[in-house]
Amino acid sequence: MVTATPYRKVLLIGLLMLSACSADNTEQSNNIYGNTMGTTYSVQLDVLPNGVSHTELKNQLEAILETVNQQMSTYDPESEITQFNRSESTDWLPVSDALVFLTSIAEGHSLLSNGAFDITVGPLVELWGFGSQFNNQRPAIEAVQSTQEYIGHQLLEWRSESSALRKKHPQLQMDLSAIAKGYGVDLLAQHLNGLQVNNYLVEIGGELRAVGANPEGQPWKIGIQQPDSAAPEAGLILSLSNHSVATSGDYLNFYVEDGKRYSHIIDPRTGYPVIHQTASVTVVAETTTLADVWATTLLVLGEEAGSELAELNNIAAVFLVREDAGDFSLSMTSAMIPLLKPGK
Ligand code: AMP
Ligand code: MG
Repeated sequence: MVTATPYRKVLLIGLLMLSACSADNTEQSNNIYGNTMGTTYSVQLDVLPNGVSHTELKNQLEAILETVNQQMSTYDPESEITQFNRSESTDWLPVSDALVFLTSIAEGHSLLSNGAFDITVGPLVELWGFGSQFNNQRPAIEAVQSTQEYIGHQLLEWRSESSALRKKHPQLQMDLSAIAKGYGVDLLAQHLNGLQVNNYLVEIGGELRAVGANPEGQPWKIGIQQPDSAAPEAGLILSLSNHSVATSGDYLNFYVEDGKRYSHIIDPRTGYPVIHQTASVTVVAETTTLADVWATTLLVLGEEAGSELAELNNIAAVFLVREDAGDFSLSMTSAMIPLLKPGK
């Protein structure tokens, strides 16, 4: 077995947060902001595409996001995914190409991670109170065990010819929350590429894609920092010009019971929320879909197993680990080093 050697450990106090260091401070900027997928999105760009107004561009981007929502939102009772989840049929069910595409990526990561990443985890997410109904009640062990009977990527088949999915267990459900935001960012980026926009930063709920140069003509600077820090330059700064970044964190959605922390990141192999000390993982990848799926996969695995898998696959990742006394330590894989801003 190959052992990963995390490059560097630094003590940090606080939590990881991504931020674009180049602020939008122009009154008449072309930037676009809005809400989607239960969070916010933003697009920073230097010039509008030829012949397209700000309003037109915003409408085009929002139409793309609306389609993703109609396909993947588990909060929308009429979305494609909700209808699939509601069905108890074990026949092939026709779905969009997008659902099949993401299912195929998810299956690859289930195999790579020995089941740590699994989009069929939805019923466990719901059982632990992190689904459509948030509640902080720990379920009975019997309920966890009986739910696990229909969790497992091997119970979900996909085919790309006449796009369709098939449940091998009638109660199987899928949850694309760990990838959908990244996928949405990629679609927006593709749209901007098609309009010959060369410099932009697209972000949905913290998952982002940085292309070309920032308004100062420099690579985009993305800060991985402490949200409660007054110093914007605290933490690490990435220098990116054609990359995607995603973060998965256990501090975004959790409850504490009897002094134990229960997070929305569930380990499908145990049926329980992850219990290791890794608080968050940030991944830089070629696409935002991949960054998003990797970040969640590595968070489920935790720093030890996660950094080993990331090293093996040459994935750029930063792990933030809770230490005693409320401190955090930070480690990263070797592929992350060239992405750091010089001097950081
Ligand atoms: P992210 O913020 O991208 O890490 O996605 C977190 C969401 O992914 C959670 O809110 C769950 O809906 C879902 N999820 C939780 N555990 C897993 C897992 N082991 N594999 C895949 N998705 C998961
Ligand atoms: Mg993710």
